[in-house]
Formats: sequence, structure tokens, C-alpha cells
Amino acid sequence: MDLRICHLYPDLMCIYGDRGNVITLARRARWRGIEVEERALNAGDALDPAWADLYFFGGGQDQGQDVVSRDLDGPNGDALRRAFASGASALAVCGGYQLLGHEYLPAGGPPIPGLGAIDVTTRAGKVRFVGNLLAQAAQGTLIGFENHSGHTYLGPKAKPLATVLVGRGNNGEDETEGAVQGRIVGTYCHGSVLPKNPWLADMLLAWALERRHGPVTLAPLDDGEELAAQQAAAEVARTRP
Ligand code: GLN
Repeated sequence: MDLRICHLYPDLMCIYGDRGNVITLARRARWRGIEVEERALNAGDALDPAWADLYFFGGGQDQGQDVVSRDLDGPNGDALRRAFASGASALAVCGGYQLLGHEYLPAGGPPIPGLGAIDVTTRAGKVRFVGNLLAQAAQGTLIGFENHSGHTYLGPKAKPLATVLVGRGNNGEDETEGAVQGRIVGTYCHGSVLPKNPWLADMLLAWALERRHGPVTLAPLDDGEELAAQQAAAEVARTRP
């Protein structure tokens, strides 16, 4: 069994440790004897919609998002939509999350069009949300940190990933954090998010492997260290939000 991971725009969209998510996905697959191949797609490259099982789309600054948005406004955007329609999975963090939505309206600038792959819309708020982010998902605790001016609002086709316990999450108003639509997950958790949230990593791995291999049951891993790190970070978030 093998897994193909495509890291989207790593030169522009990879801040606050987000590459650690690709490392975690690859490592948790290889620990289970699954072969992993990784490719990067940068602006100007040609995305092959048939190749990747799983896309990772990290966070970035408004300027980088503008460049990526223009690249997604061409053949790569159509190819990525086809990839999702054919069952590919994705994890998108912060700026990447915003760009998989309908649009991101930065402060004082024109709207940055998104792919429209998830039913969310983002507009810059007056307050930048920076700090620890602790939330509760149905599958488990979600811990990370957030740093974004964008406030994201979910439309009816997207469901919240988690409920905020500490921090601001999507918009600081409706207590939602992140979004899930089909096999696409968006979150504001940087960190990187996956090492300390193994349930999320394995959910994405199972979805991705199913694309070409059919339903899989992942062998359990000893997540003692990961969960200890999760609980320690959650305690810090609770005591020093
Ligand atoms: N530029 C976007 C914002 O400020 C995304 C930031 C990020 O990816 N951390 O909301």
C-alpha cells in the first residue's frame, strides 16, 4: 500500500511550523509500513489531479495568498477541484483554509478569490487573533495556536471541525473552529497541528488511503508521547490563554 502527498505552494504557504504536518502524515504512514511519496506544487507548476491522495495547504501572509489565488484562478484551480471531486483529501491551515473557501477579503485590499471547494467565506476583522487555540472535536481534543486577521464564516455545506474552548477559532463569535466538507479539513490551528492531534492525522490518512485502496483500518500506534504533548499544551492554553 502506498500514499501520495502533495504539498501545495510550500514556498509561499508554509508558516508557523506548518510543514510539520506533512512530516507527521508521512511518518505515521511509514510507521505502518505504508510507502509514501511526496511532491510539492508551486505557482506555475502543473497540478496532476490524478496523482495525489492527500493535499496539504499551509498558512501564509496576504501577499502570498494573492499570488496563490491567481495560480488557482487558472488550470491548477480546475485540476484541484477535479482532484477533490475524485476523492482526494486535504488539510488546509489558516491561509490555505481561507483559499479553499469562496474568498478572503483582507483589510484594505480587494477580495482574494478562493477555490470554492469548501463553503466558507473570510473577511479581515479589526482584531488579529493570536494565541493558544484549544477546541473540542467529536473525535478528540484539538490544540494548536492561531495567528490570523481573517474571520471565517461557514455556509450550510460546511460543518465545524470543533467547538472553541480557549481562543477565537473561525471568527471569535460563533465558537466554531475550522470546517469539514467531504474529505477536506480546514483549521486555524498552526503548530504544526498534526503531531499533537494524532486523531486528526489518522482521520486524514484513512480518507487518503481509501481513495485508491478502498476502506482501510489503520493499525494503532503508541501515541503516548503525542497525547502527553497534547495534554501539556492544552493545560498551558487553559491556564495562560
Ligand atoms: N493572511 C491571513 C490572515 O491574516 C492568513 C494568516 C495565516 O495563514 N497565518 O488571516
